[in-house]
Amino acid sequence: MIKTDILIIGAGPTGLFTVFEAGLLKLKTHLIDALPQPGGQCAEIYPKKPIYDIPGFPEILAGDLVNNLMEQIKPFEPGFTLGERAQTIEKLEDDTFVVTTNKGTKHNAPVIAIAGGLGSFEPRKPPIPNIDLYEDNGVAYIIRDPEVYRDKRVVIAGGGDSALDWSIFLADVASEVTLVHRRNEFRGALDSVERVAELSKLGKVNLITEAEVKELKGDEKLTAVGIRHKTEGDIHFETDYFIPLFGLSPKLGPIADWGLEIEKNAIKVDNSYDYQTNVPGIYAIGDVNTYKGKLKLILSGFHEAAIMCQSAYQRIFPDKKYVMKYTTVGGVEGFDGTKKEAKKEVVKSIN
Ligand SMILES: Cc1cc2nc3c(=O)[nH]c(=O)nc-3n(C[C@H](O)[C@H](O)[C@H](O)COP(=O)(O)OP(=O)(O)OC[C@H]3O[C@@H](n4cnc5c(N)ncnc54)[C@H](O)[C@@H]3O)c2cc1C
Repeated sequence: MIKTDILIIGAGPTGLFTVFEAGLLKLKTHLIDALPQPGGQCAEIYPKKPIYDIPGFPEILAGDLVNNLMEQIKPFEPGFTLGERAQTIEKLEDDTFVVTTNKGTKHNAPVIAIAGGLGSFEPRKPPIPNIDLYEDNGVAYIIRDPEVYRDKRVVIAGGGDSALDWSIFLADVASEVTLVHRRNEFRGALDSVERVAELSKLGKVNLITEAEVKELKGDEKLTAVGIRHKTEGDIHFETDYFIPLFGLSPKLGPIADWGLEIEKNAIKVDNSYDYQTNVPGIYAIGDVNTYKGKLKLILSGFHEAAIMCQSAYQRIFPDKKYVMKYTTVGGVEGFDGTKKEAKKEVVKSIN
């Protein structure tokens, strides 16, 4: 059982900044995310797009914002359960919660901060009838650890950036990489398309276009796929892995069944105070919540995280009074010398 003070569901920008705000209050945090990497929409959907409305940054790439947030929270040493979806919640007699993931990992905390954004990103699965039978037995929708595919035969399907980028990457890892796409044209970045064409010429990627994987074969474990080609008909293709990369679609998912008040696919919260849901001890912050005037922006999530952590502190330590300090005065524990330097700066400016 992983124990923490605030269990954060969702490691998007809101969840990550919650670690910082909680850390200032000396509260421990642990994050769960269904995706294999932190950053939420910024990392998954638009890492290379510039954002223009983060205060203090006239322009910052979404991926760089995530990297900066990770750097900012490092001193607080948050725990991470990545690649697992928070599935169920249970309240214990001591007023704490146990959240269990789809992989069975259990987490216990007195405060839950749901920062689930648009929901957990679920893979878009191709319509192959027996695909569920081979999940984790040769079929994967997300590449968590490329080393799994070292010296194995891999068939990737898809025509976007993920399919192209992973084909390029795995060309140096797997013993054989085959990319199957139903059109001749790809939707990904031009340089990735060109690189795949080059690798195909070099014989490092088998490129099969105008074709679709229609069948999966093997006893328990996948051993081959059936590919239907537009002109050549059906092809039997032996492989160890089939990785369809058709993108991810967000779904509020299991959180919708946690007894929380839901409105328009978002969680209703009390915005007159602390972004708590109708269940005391469970907060909802960032894109996942709704209230009158809500703006689904990164800066809203940051603000809500700060307020929510103050309220969480009071819930965890009802008898303690916390006096808020500016980071310029209090510094941040863990950054070498920051605390001292920060104090000097303030004294200087007062003098
Ligand atoms: C193309 C695009 C451009 C944008 N541009 C801007 C912009 O310029 N400025 C701006 O302010 N905003 C912009 N946004 C919006 C911004 O990205 C969101 O407001 C922000 O990502 C919300 O952050 P969040 O942490 O609340 O949620 P998210 O970023 O959605 O992160 C939520 C995380 O929770 C995880 N999760 C959900 N449910 C579960 C579960 N049950 N178990 C485990 N994990 C779960 C998800 O996998 C996800 O990683 C843009 C959005 C898009 C799509």
